[in-house]
Amino acid sequence: MENNKWSNDSQNNDNCDLLSIESFHLIVNIISLALVFGSILNMVAQYYILGNDLSSTLDLSVELLVLGCFMQIIMRLKLNPKLKTYSLIVLITILIPLITLEFIEYGSITIWPFPFILIIASLIFIDRTMLFWVGLTVLLTQIIVWLKVPSLEVMLDTTDYLVRLGLFSIGIIAAFYINSLYVKNLKENAYYLQKVQEMAYHDHLTGLPNKLLFNERLKQAIVSAQLSKGSFAVMFLDLDNFKMVNDTKGHEQGDVLLTAIGRRLTAILKEGDTVSRIGGDEFLILAHNASAQGAAEVAQKVINSLNKSFTLEGEKLSITTSIGVALYPVDGETPEALIKNADIAMYQAKEKGKNQFLLCSEVMKTESAENVKLTKDLYRALERDEMLLYYQPQVNNRTGRVVGLEALIRWKHPEAGLVLPDKFIPLAEKTGLINALGEWVLRTACRQIKVWQDKGLLPVRLAVNLSVYQFQNPAIVDLVGEILRDTGLDAKFLELEITESVAMKEKGYIVETLCKFKKLGVSIALDDFGTVYSCLDYIKELPLDRIKIAMPFIRGIAVSEKDEAITKAIIVLARNLGLNTVAEGVETWQQLDFLQRQMCDEIQGYYYYKAMPKEEIEKILQG
Ligand code: C2E
Ligand code: CA
Repeated sequence: MENNKWSNDSQNNDNCDLLSIESFHLIVNIISLALVFGSILNMVAQYYILGNDLSSTLDLSVELLVLGCFMQIIMRLKLNPKLKTYSLIVLITILIPLITLEFIEYGSITIWPFPFILIIASLIFIDRTMLFWVGLTVLLTQIIVWLKVPSLEVMLDTTDYLVRLGLFSIGIIAAFYINSLYVKNLKENAYYLQKVQEMAYHDHLTGLPNKLLFNERLKQAIVSAQLSKGSFAVMFLDLDNFKMVNDTKGHEQGDVLLTAIGRRLTAILKEGDTVSRIGGDEFLILAHNASAQGAAEVAQKVINSLNKSFTLEGEKLSITTSIGVALYPVDGETPEALIKNADIAMYQAKEKGKNQFLLCSEVMKTESAENVKLTKDLYRALERDEMLLYYQPQVNNRTGRVVGLEALIRWKHPEAGLVLPDKFIPLAEKTGLINALGEWVLRTACRQIKVWQDKGLLPVRLAVNLSVYQFQNPAIVDLVGEILRDTGLDAKFLELEITESVAMKEKGYIVETLCKFKKLGVSIALDDFGTVYSCLDYIKELPLDRIKIAMPFIRGIAVSEKDEAITKAIIVLARNLGLNTVAEGVETWQQLDFLQRQMCDEIQGYYYYKAMPKEEIEKILQG
């Protein structure tokens, strides 16, 4: 696994031994400039001061200019930094003796300033290797000069030697000193650069690669899979009910758990695979060389490993996860597409009951594209008057009379036809449109019931579904009160259906809000009871009026003894708590018979009526 903080991706300290590109360019520019300067100096010294002939003067000046150009060319060539540094060493190594020996004949004014400018300027910014080579070259050059001097016409005395030696030593010492400062600075910069990169590429909590780094690795994986015609898998993990851990154990312990999960995932994956935390309780995994079969095995391994308990504050704790898997190239050829499709599959895994993995499929992808379109259309649906309400009667189990109507929303989509709420309510919840939609349902339904009452039709209770998102809005009680006032409907006819997921929010808020509703005179039903949490503690404390037994249990009547037992238990429990019961989704005579024997209070289902438009409901109420 390449998840350690100081991974290959971070630039590492080796670069301190090489010239940075900027320094390299600076040196080359200084040397090239020095060469041009030397070329001009040569013209001045040879032609004007020493009176030499023009052609020999030009020879050297042109040589120097050509060398300068050559250096500029090296700089502009697309070589890697190492090659550039070494070519520069070679050039300087050739240049120093060449220039020194060339100029030695023209006396100290022209010879010495030039190589020293060159050496000091270049040593300041170079690395240790280069410092060594250049220093050595200068020293060797000096030895050659000293050996050559007797054969030259230029006569040098002891003072000359001492001055030169002094200058040379000062130059080298200064260069070493400046160089050491520079290298120190370079190392510090590299260290901070690494730190910054670590922060930019890693999750601060777990130390795992973050989404940025994951994307980089994904890009690399795509390139190598393209070359090798291979495949790999991207997995989207979302921990199930992680919020519960934060709520019950506190955020600090939640963080401890996330870190432990990160470590466990890292440990079970293959060398070279990547696990990344992309925020909250979401992780991404990149599993190399994985086919559908291989990816399924990895996903199962992840699920199994997380199923083993963790220890938090000395207590054992279990956590489960839902995983969506997308395969390259079938489920996407870009990082975005792969992550998106893995995310889609993860959502499906959650919807199918969590603690499982699902491979992305064509159906999922099409559904997701449809959802994107539906979401776009949903924004305009209300203003285009495309929403309508159906009502499904609730029948008293003893008298067989209609006693209530549940308002159920429908969307008359211009292209897709009648769209059912299961398709668009989750989208409305995701986008926040549910508040506007919910208000419209409440207003329309209350107004309609009032119209029927004013017509003298049988007065019935109106049940309206309240999304958990609407419930979270503290203004909801005032809104319901306002709608009742505006429509003139007596509050005793309105019942709000909340789901068990509402009941899992903070207890104080729920009890307080429900009490406010009750104060308005509105009644409360707990919808789909038994499907999610069935938290008996809550039922005891919430000011409820009715429990709606979830459809799956009713379906199991006359089929499964367990479902019958649960249905029976719910009815008995509700009766003992003084609550009414409504059985949802009653379709057959056997189901009805069973529920009558158990004395379930009300029946809602196709056995009696489906959800119907207001015109048909009006006829039923008239009858
Ligand atoms: P729900 O509240 O559980 O509503 C009952 C669903 O069961 C309705 O589906 C209804 O048509 C269906 N149903 C009733 N009896 C039978 C039966 O005998 N057999 C079968 N197979 N189905 C039956 P619908 O209208 O498609 O609504 C689905 C869900 O959408 C509702 O489930 C509710 O959660 C949500 N929903 C509907 N209208 C609204 C709304 O205005 N606001 C909110 N927040 N949610 C709504
Ligand atoms: Ca309902």
